[in-house]
Amino acid sequence: MKVYADNAATTKMSRSAIDAMLPYMEEVFGNPSSLYTIGQEAAEAVYKAREKFAKALGCTVNEIYFTSGGSEADNQAIRSAAEIGAKRNKKHIISTTFEHHAVLHTLDKLQTEGFDITYLDVHENGLVTAEQVAEAIRPDTCLVTIMYANNEIGTVQPIREIGALCREKKITFHTDAVQAIGHIPVNVKEDNIDMLSLSAHKFHGPKGVGVLYVRKGVYISNLIQGGAQERGKRGGTENVPGIMGAAAAIEEAVKNLGENSEKLLKLRERLIDGLLEIPHSVLNGDRNSRLPGNVNICFEGIEGESLLLLLDAKGISASSGSACTSGSLDPSHVLLAIGRPHEIAHGSLRLSLSEENTEEEIEYIVSEVPKVVYYLRNMSPVWRDLQEGKKDYVIQ
Ligand SMILES: *Cc1c(COP(=O)(O)O)cnc(C)c1O
Repeated sequence: MKVYADNAATTKMSRSAIDAMLPYMEEVFGNPSSLYTIGQEAAEAVYKAREKFAKALGCTVNEIYFTSGGSEADNQAIRSAAEIGAKRNKKHIISTTFEHHAVLHTLDKLQTEGFDITYLDVHENGLVTAEQVAEAIRPDTCLVTIMYANNEIGTVQPIREIGALCREKKITFHTDAVQAIGHIPVNVKEDNIDMLSLSAHKFHGPKGVGVLYVRKGVYISNLIQGGAQERGKRGGTENVPGIMGAAAAIEEAVKNLGENSEKLLKLRERLIDGLLEIPHSVLNGDRNSRLPGNVNICFEGIEGESLLLLLDAKGISASSGSACTSGSLDPSHVLLAIGRPHEIAHGSLRLSLSEENTEEEIEYIVSEVPKVVYYLRNMSPVWRDLQEGKKDYVIQ
């Protein structure tokens, strides 16, 4: 059996997203800046796509900027707020320790440029609170950037409350909502969000297409200089087919959101219950304030990398953290952020589901993972020490 359970890394494109793209490669291939018909048809299509995103997020078309993905949107949002902050001599930024690297590495860079960054500690349940943000705010704070939902452990942050606080204190609030959009309800107005990043390939759209939402009145600067595209804020000929695929995908995701999340919740709960039957295992992140498709579990005494390879041999595609840290031997910065010790953080398994996963697939995972965990434990000197009482279990 082949089971794809790494939808937080990327998703398979939906049929309707692919179908929405094809005409813009084959027939309407014009440049939206051109004045003749196939150019103007492309421009019209991009406008309609913008309307679809505006509708999905609860904003206006002029608040939508297309980018090359979530990473670019994160970079542009943070850089823009920092630029304004620097002009006003406000060079303090608040974020968290478990953001995506697109945020963390941008903040690292700003730190070398003289910004002071406060990284809020994440509680063991994978959540930060508005109170923590309130305590960290200073007179020179120019930006709060906190992710909507975490890409590894799936925890959903109290964004509306944090947004309300920032609004009250007149501090720009950005959220990396790449994992949230298309999966849980998000409304930028109700959630008091000034800037939001999303990425189409996380909800069955194409790779290389993202959106930065910027509330009217909030300033953004360019990362990419060029033509007058995106109202002068992002030069470069529009990725018309990509934008069309992304718009079809968001429309479909929002339309089916209720139905999909109900289905996913059932699958997720069965998967968590089934895997936690393995002794000395623990769920990472709050069970309730969590994306409907996310399961992340640590197993004591094993290496996540070996687990993944053996699962792959059984046809199961999963992850031990973010796609960005797979391939490196460092444990996940997210699991360390919630206080898991190194040796435990190494033994993690993330399964991120989509509505295409079936009950049969979940039962297959629930039957195969324990076999692989027991097999690896039997070979593990660490596990032997634990069994012989030479070491204490970290996970009871
Ligand atoms: C995937 C992801 C990104 C990066 O998006 P790309 O479109 O791949 O650049 C940023 N933040 C989070 C939380 C993500 O999951």
